[in-house]
Amino acid sequence: MNQCLPILVCPHCERRIPLPYRNLRGTTGVEAYWPPDSDTLTLVCPHCAHLSVHSEQDICTEEVHGVDPNQAPVIFWRVEFACSKFQCEGSVAVHTQTEVSGDINHNTIAGRAYKTTPKLRCPECGGEKMNLERVDRVIMGGEGWYLT
Ligand SMILES: [Zn+2]
Ligand SMILES: [Zn+2]
Repeated sequence: MNQCLPILVCPHCERRIPLPYRNLRGTTGVEAYWPPDSDTLTLVCPHCAHLSVHSEQDICTEEVHGVDPNQAPVIFWRVEFACSKFQCEGSVAVHTQTEVSGDINHNTIAGRAYKTTPKLRCPECGGEKMNLERVDRVIMGGEGWYLT
């Protein structure tokens, strides 16, 4: 069985990062996950820690021939940060991918977002002090491919 996966490519190391899907409300259709209320998706490469900002035209579709049973499932994470500067309402959602492992918790993921190149900054004021607000994750593989 062939499956078409939406992917984004890290511009620094060319690692391919598969996106989950999102349900289209009120229809049976699906399309690639995209952050709600945003034209761009901020991605932290799990391989080289490069921070890149993508637009929807950057999505490639890759056909996968069957599913490799030896391929470990991965987790796709969305981590939301809010600026800590007084009266700044800037916020940003960062996306990344990890393997499924008991050692990975919210702090691991937040730590990764603080160590990117270039650094994560508030989109409103450019400040570097961002507080972790919320973490969402989806395990890619099996039935759980949806992050809405
Ligand atoms: Zn990379
Ligand atoms: Zn700010």
